[in-house]
Amino acid sequence: MVPLNDFARQWADVRADVMEAVEAVGESGWYILGREVREFEAGLGAVWGLGFAAGTASGLDAIEISLRVLGCRAGDRVLTSPISAFATVLAILKIGAVPVFAGCDRFGLLDLDAANEACAQGGIRFCVPVHLYGHALDAVRLRALRDRFSLAMVEDCAQSIGASFRGEPTGSAGQMAAASFYPTKNLGAMGDAGAILSDTPALIEAACVLRDYGQSSKYVHERIGSNSRLDEVQAAILRRALLPRLARWTARRRAIAARYLERITNPLVLPVGAPPGSESCWHLFPVLVDPARKPAFLDHLRAEGAGCAEHYPRALFDQPVMREVEWECFGSCAPARRFCASEVSLPIHPYLGDDEVDQVAAACNRWTG
Ligand SMILES: *Cc1c(COP(=O)(O)O)cnc(C)c1O
Repeated sequence: MVPLNDFARQWADVRADVMEAVEAVGESGWYILGREVREFEAGLGAVWGLGFAAGTASGLDAIEISLRVLGCRAGDRVLTSPISAFATVLAILKIGAVPVFAGCDRFGLLDLDAANEACAQGGIRFCVPVHLYGHALDAVRLRALRDRFSLAMVEDCAQSIGASFRGEPTGSAGQMAAASFYPTKNLGAMGDAGAILSDTPALIEAACVLRDYGQSSKYVHERIGSNSRLDEVQAAILRRALLPRLARWTARRRAIAARYLERITNPLVLPVGAPPGSESCWHLFPVLVDPARKPAFLDHLRAEGAGCAEHYPRALFDQPVMREVEWECFGSCAPARRFCASEVSLPIHPYLGDDEVDQVAAACNRWTG
């Protein structure tokens, strides 16, 4: 079976460096908010191309804290993508804010025309665009959207570390960006972890207050914060063992995507591909099939030994809990529903061999509908 992720192969590769990282933290006797977190934050900012970073306990928290730093409060309307990991909308809902879903384009990404129209109607001051699948949204258009409507923008970069739009890293159009180091992400820790990035130091300082009980200095609590600190152990593993491998991992993901794009030739299985201008980091490799035949296609792939998944089986607004909260859909919900009904993700991870890629591509090509 060609797995979607291969943590066994990864462990064999990173083991020695991870053990060294854990040793270093053990010997330091310092487990919370110390040198490892500080150095990881500096290293992450440098690799990403954004000035400042703050580690958090998760990507979910990174989005929520960033929105709070930018002043988002209960009742505020927040424009966002209709297709994403549920954490994107959960971060908005936890504040008591109201998600406004704009439509999706043919790549499953936020439709920036619809986003402009939604904002032109007024009443939207916040935006959480998602760089889904590792594709970079159009940074020029995102910045124009932000400027035209004076939006506070938190880019959800959980899937887009290493991706850029015409050379500009994702996360540079908004005031703040959120990253996730959930184990399956392109830079995946050995547990939960996340980060907030920004070019504005004051925003990162405010985020550091919120991630640590709202305290501005020891025992001085200025805000209603939370406990969302990044552990020293995770920071040490990320900084010493994983971040140095990221460039190689991203290059390998790009090579795999190129190989799939070249080898999948079945007109019944359509690779979504990268949008124009996006230098994608290929967190996922989505293909589209006839929605009526999707369950049979998933069975076919598994029978051929190809791991597969759905990202995501439903649009965000079709999750059961959305019945209990206030939300809006700008325009038609249909395109996002249609995209989700057609989408299947193929294995793409840095330890996948060319023979395995070819096996999955061949399985796609043998699909007869
Ligand atoms: C994974 C993910 C998140 C949430 O990150 P966690 O670290 O799991 O909380 C948010 N948005 C997107 C798009 C994601 O893929």
